[in-house]
Amino acid sequence: MRYSQLFAKTLRQAPKEADTVNHRLLTQAGFVDQVMAGVYNYLPLGLRVLRKIEAIVREEMNQVGGQEVLMAMLTPKAIWEQTGAWDKVDVLFKIQSRTEKEYALGYSQEEVVTPLVMSRTPSYKDLPVSAYQIHWKFRDELRAKSGIMRGREFFMKDMYSFHENQEDFLRFYEIVKQAYLRIYARLGLTAKVTEASGGAFSEKISYEFMVLTDAGEDDILYCEECDFCVNTEIAKVKEGDQCPKCDKGMLKLAKASEVGNVFDLGQKFGKDFDLGFADKDGNKQYPFMGCYGLGISRVMGVIVEKFNDDKGILWPKSVAPFQVHLIGLDLDDPEVKNRAEEIYDQLQDRNIEVLYDNRIDLGAGEKFKDADLIGIPYRAIISKKTGDQIELKARQESESELIDLDKLISVTNE
Ligand code: ATP
Ligand code: MG
Repeated sequence: MRYSQLFAKTLRQAPKEADTVNHRLLTQAGFVDQVMAGVYNYLPLGLRVLRKIEAIVREEMNQVGGQEVLMAMLTPKAIWEQTGAWDKVDVLFKIQSRTEKEYALGYSQEEVVTPLVMSRTPSYKDLPVSAYQIHWKFRDELRAKSGIMRGREFFMKDMYSFHENQEDFLRFYEIVKQAYLRIYARLGLTAKVTEASGGAFSEKISYEFMVLTDAGEDDILYCEECDFCVNTEIAKVKEGDQCPKCDKGMLKLAKASEVGNVFDLGQKFGKDFDLGFADKDGNKQYPFMGCYGLGISRVMGVIVEKFNDDKGILWPKSVAPFQVHLIGLDLDDPEVKNRAEEIYDQLQDRNIEVLYDNRIDLGAGEKFKDADLIGIPYRAIISKKTGDQIELKARQESESELIDLDKLISVTNE
């Protein structure tokens, strides 16, 4: 992509209302644009990052046998009354139609997916089933803050699984937990599996995936010696206590952001809708269900909170909007310009994602500043000085080196 043609370029000023690093950097670098508190437009650069995270999540969900669907988000009041959510779920966005009918926007989709799946799985032979979607969610959050980490409209992967019995659910629960850990690792994040409350409807504990960051809204206690971690909401231990799991480490308190959550839903939703399946003996049984959420837009915010410096963002390669930020200097010199264009074409022919800063009316300093702010992993410069070579610098390094095109291709393909 030619930077000259990108309509959403970097901004000179950081937004005044930004209360977090992700809000400030993502806005200033031209990734997102705030419409109102908790609602954002995703600009071309931002959408590329969101799509990359989405693709990683999709790959791992397909890997565990999840079947992708797209569910209705505008839904009738009746389904939410059936489970009690209409009155109990404070974040449910309710809509009054001019026909006087009432609707709700999906905040989580158990009420939609349960009838959807259970009407098609009459027998135990049809189970287990897991269905997921990657879609916008709506929540009437009282305080939408922390940039894209807490939206009123946000992008989430939600999967729901249906099982014949609790053992089969537990088997799958473990598989999904492992898939989640693989997803976070691929995104460059370390997530702690954290015991938490079961949410609005459940007495059971759930597992949250927590990434340590001061921009997070959760407080967790974790052990430095083992993988014990608990949300302070349900903790029976406190900071400084000995770890109840390994008996060795001391517990530390930290701020964290919840980037995912897996729930044991039990048989609640099948019962609420009176939708079951026939077991081996032909008796009606209600399914054992699990629910697995992963906040894709929140993850994007958390990545920025973790990977930045005083100049801008440092995207991990796996989610960077482009792999190379190609900068042409001295472009008023036809020879240099031809060479830069040629390199741009050749990189694209090799399927390397390049953002090409081909602006002629801008100095080197400003182009470098933009490149640092945007945070693409590699910066490659073509100028009078570089001759038939290319000056390459990794975003987080201070030293650059002169290389040829083949080297550039191999480095960026790693
Ligand atoms: P929180 O405790 O942060 O309010 P939650 O427990 O209500 O989140 P879930 O209902 O489990 O969240 O949603 C699944 C995932 O969606 C969360 O783990 C989180 O990553 C993400 N998420 C939840 N609420 C928001 C929001 N308002 N904005 C962005 N992402 C969100
Ligand atoms: Mg939670």
